[in-house]
Amino acid sequence: MVDTIYVEEEVLEHPRAKLIISKFPLARIIEIDRFGEVFNKRNQNFKIQKINPAIILAKKYKKLILPAPDGFGIGGKRNYYFSHMYNCIYDCRYCFLQGMYSSANYVIFINFEDFAEQIIQINKEFSKDNITFFSGYDCDSLALENITGFLDYILPIFSPYPKSMLEVRTKSAKLKPMTIVSPPDNCIIAYSLMPQIMSGVLDHKAPSIDRRIKSMTDLANRGWKIGLRFDPLIYGKNWKELYTELIVSISKNIPSEAIHSISFGPLRFPRAMFQKIFKLYPDDILFTGPITQRGSIMAYSEEIENEMALHCRQLFSNFVSDSIIFQCVSEGSSNLSDQV
Ligand code: SF4
Repeated sequence: MVDTIYVEEEVLEHPRAKLIISKFPLARIIEIDRFGEVFNKRNQNFKIQKINPAIILAKKYKKLILPAPDGFGIGGKRNYYFSHMYNCIYDCRYCFLQGMYSSANYVIFINFEDFAEQIIQINKEFSKDNITFFSGYDCDSLALENITGFLDYILPIFSPYPKSMLEVRTKSAKLKPMTIVSPPDNCIIAYSLMPQIMSGVLDHKAPSIDRRIKSMTDLANRGWKIGLRFDPLIYGKNWKELYTELIVSISKNIPSEAIHSISFGPLRFPRAMFQKIFKLYPDDILFTGPITQRGSIMAYSEEIENEMALHCRQLFSNFVSDSIIFQCVSEGSSNLSDQV
């Protein structure tokens, strides 16, 4: 339960801010100048703040839509990413947000119109190209949809642009608003996945893999395009069998025609980020595994990475065509590079 909402003075009268505030009638409302004065304060403890995060309602001015890093994409000629929020209600141990921010408070940027304007501008500028927009780099795209209404707002923005694809990356099992609108051709609901036994110890507070598969199945039956995201791939005892079982279970529930794409990527952290996260959870099973330093990154050995990539690609190609399988490699573990 959120008991404090910080609101930037500039957005205090914004109807969307008022709507969000109205959902928390008991919350203390604190007016602030800019979100950074709360969010970037020194000496905050991400782990402690995660127990009871506040909401910060803010306006985003710059860097609303960014080009995705090289090596990231699902077949589009151009790739962009954006986040209408910072932070997440879930608490995955490999999440890069805990190494990137010192605050676990949820920042919600309520100027959706400015995100839309930039998306439209990019679509017009590159109207001949297939473009993919990835939502949810710094958050889970759907976990707080009942509070933000972001997808509800942004979906229609894409309808005049059939060559433009929106990927909504999530671990949420909630189905609204997808159950109340018709599935557009250019939206993918992409689920982050790993074997349940791994997810059970790493994806704290997130819906179980079974619940995610149930949600995917429901959406696929309603005609939504589904993305399967295995990023990061997690190494552990019997990983081959576990990933095989997971794919078999997905393929039994979801027809391959409903799958838009499968992507996968290795577990990797920039070194400084890893050190920050490791300090928070030095005894976590993830960090007692075979992660080593490789130049400026912390990752499994190249041998493990390659073996996992090879095995999983083979598994996926038993289920869908090779043309929709993508290996994504970036320096961090996130909703973009992941995972969610
Ligand atoms: S990895 Fe994704 S779902 Fe998990 S806490 Fe981070 S943003 Fe949320």
